[in-house]
Amino acid sequence: MKSYNITLIPGDGIGPELTTATRRVLEATGVKLNWDIVHAGTDVMAEYGTPLPPHVVESIRRNKVALKGPITTPIGSGFRSVNVALRKELELYCCLRPCKSYVGTPTLYNNIDIVIVRENMEDLYAGIEFEKGTPNNARLISFLGEMGAKIKPDSGISIKPISESGSRRIVRFAFEYARNHKRKRVTAVHKANIMKFSDGLFLAVARDVAREYPEIEFEDRIVDNMTMQLVKKPQFFDVLVCPNLYGDIISDLCAGLVGGLGVAPGANLGDTLALFEPTHGSAPKYKGMNKANPMAMMLSGVLMLKWIGETAAAESVENAVAAVIAEGKNVTYDLKPEGQQDRAVGTSQVADAIIDKMNRL
Ligand code: NAD
Repeated sequence: MKSYNITLIPGDGIGPELTTATRRVLEATGVKLNWDIVHAGTDVMAEYGTPLPPHVVESIRRNKVALKGPITTPIGSGFRSVNVALRKELELYCCLRPCKSYVGTPTLYNNIDIVIVRENMEDLYAGIEFEKGTPNNARLISFLGEMGAKIKPDSGISIKPISESGSRRIVRFAFEYARNHKRKRVTAVHKANIMKFSDGLFLAVARDVAREYPEIEFEDRIVDNMTMQLVKKPQFFDVLVCPNLYGDIISDLCAGLVGGLGVAPGANLGDTLALFEPTHGSAPKYKGMNKANPMAMMLSGVLMLKWIGETAAAESVENAVAAVIAEGKNVTYDLKPEGQQDRAVGTSQVADAIIDKMNRL
């Protein structure tokens, strides 16, 4: 029987309990998964002097596939995001985030099936920043001043690089995804009216690549209009391709449309490596409470099973998740209608219910 070596990063906050629940469900498919468990984040700082020890990256390079729980990033100061570092280090240039309505989810909308293709390495997430009051910040402000760009001397500066090659790669990914998954429309999201040389370049490349896929409809939206239209008529949208920052914001918005972060899975994909993780963060307030919804991580596991070619197992997990949501009995607080949260079950009970469904369906 075929077996797969998978790097497993439990993460912190709610990560470890979601990971345990997800492992149980994925193992119940019968697919032989050998977990290579490694840790990253604040909890390993003391031991390794870094939140992302080299052996974690090596494990993913070796196994080529990883499943990861969320990892906390300090706000404002402290170490930079481990999540962003992993994507950059491993050249995981595409963040794929499907947002799909499941019947029974308490939300105002139904029949939504949007896939967000987010550029994962450039834009304001490139990590090129100049802190107020530092010598490099002063040098940059002076240099830009000489070129006629006036910046107040007490400014913090973050740089937004968007390249032609990076844009071409992500837009092509979006169109290939659309073609392979029989999707009809790709919408490019931008603010090219204001940022003419970064978002403008992204849009120009998107228009160019679109000509190679005449069977797929192409259109674009300015990001502010996009958010309004997503709320007004989400069913219209199919595949969205976005630069990094807009992709991040829009994927949380779309998660909200389909019932919340508890049902929003994701994948970070490169040419040969793949790391699967939910869209949500570490929700520290629910840490250790057996309260958070494990479905987003389980559905990330579904994406992982599809990636390794275990399509039947992937369908079995997704069908069981959908059936448990539809029944509405064994779901966490976020999937209970207003006023019924006290009837919610915990993380581990959701896993029990899904495994039970898999055995029956
Ligand atoms: P969050 O996603 O952790 O939480 C936002 C809201 O959604 C909270 O109300 C939370 O309780 C709820 N929520 C999240 N996941 C849920 C789940 N599975 N079930 C039920 N409810 C859920 O976002 P945040 O509070 O902005 O971030 C917390 C930390 O996570 C930060 O340090 C942030 O940097 C980090 N983060 C990590 C990742 C990642 O690891 N890829 C992604 C996003 C945020």
